[in-house]
Amino acid sequence: MESLFCKTNEEIMSILGLDKPFQAKIVYQNMIKGISDFGAMTSLPKALRERLQSERKSTFTGEIIRKEEADSTIKLAVRFPDGAIIECVRLSDGNGRYTACLSSQVGCAMGCAFCKTGTMGLVRNLTAGEIAEQFALLETLGEKISHIVFMGMGEALANFTAAIDAVQELHREDGFNISYRRMTISTCGLVPGIKKLTELNLPVRLAVSLVAADDKTRSSIMKINRSYPLSELKAALISFQRHQDRRLTLEYCMLHGINTSAESAEELASFCRGLDALVNLIPWNPIPELGFETPREAEIRVFESYLKKLRVNYTIRRSKGRSISGACGQLATETSKMQ
Ligand code: SF4
Repeated sequence: MESLFCKTNEEIMSILGLDKPFQAKIVYQNMIKGISDFGAMTSLPKALRERLQSERKSTFTGEIIRKEEADSTIKLAVRFPDGAIIECVRLSDGNGRYTACLSSQVGCAMGCAFCKTGTMGLVRNLTAGEIAEQFALLETLGEKISHIVFMGMGEALANFTAAIDAVQELHREDGFNISYRRMTISTCGLVPGIKKLTELNLPVRLAVSLVAADDKTRSSIMKINRSYPLSELKAALISFQRHQDRRLTLEYCMLHGINTSAESAEELASFCRGLDALVNLIPWNPIPELGFETPREAEIRVFESYLKKLRVNYTIRRSKGRSISGACGQLATETSKMQ
């Protein structure tokens, strides 16, 4: 069963066997409102509604199979018809602003050592429709979502075409109408993907999971660095900023005893030089089987003091949703338990 998202009107007509373009538009508008039941689309003729209902039980291909809630964060596990399960998360800032964290792949091939998704390997890419559907499913939770981050399962730039098609779908004026500036694509540093994104010139935001600013440490934690070392990553980011003139986020997952020394801070400061970047410090979310440790509070404070001295522009994020494994780098293995 094909997703009806990221399709032209003609494609929706063909998938559903509709005769008239306006019928496809009605279906699309209902999907945007989160209506999954064709029977509820009262502006379609009754006979058509009944046929669609008998052929397809929902407008969505993804089915929510689990919902967990903690600290105003809601995580959904979504199963697609082939049995693939992904997770997506709705985050709240507590002031009425909601952000959707979407997955772009089932699992991930990048194998970053601190990340739970990395332990799964890549199962498959999601289609553009399956990525956009996650947003629609998160909106069925009842709040309007204004921001999107591609920070769920998978490396979005490794599934480039589908991720960008989903970005464009979510931006559609007659659809969810989310501004590009409110969308952030996160990458572990896939340089060819950053270059392609630069060429596209879409005003989306970019976040890079940096974790360490020296090649030896970074290569030991993030395999991607062996193919695209920091010098190449930085050159790609400088070029991205030349085109976009937009502040980057450098995600810095803090790992006890690994990337919190004075030397690490100096390397980080040196990487930031020449970039307009905000470093986002994220104390590692504990995942017992991965063998890292979350830095102690004092260790975090000392590292912050180094960054202050070095005039690094930084912020510190206390991950929400930790108790339901909905925090950064924690999506994944619970899903396989459900299979
Ligand atoms: S951090 Fe991102 S790129 Fe790295 S393994 Fe996890 S999901 Fe993949």
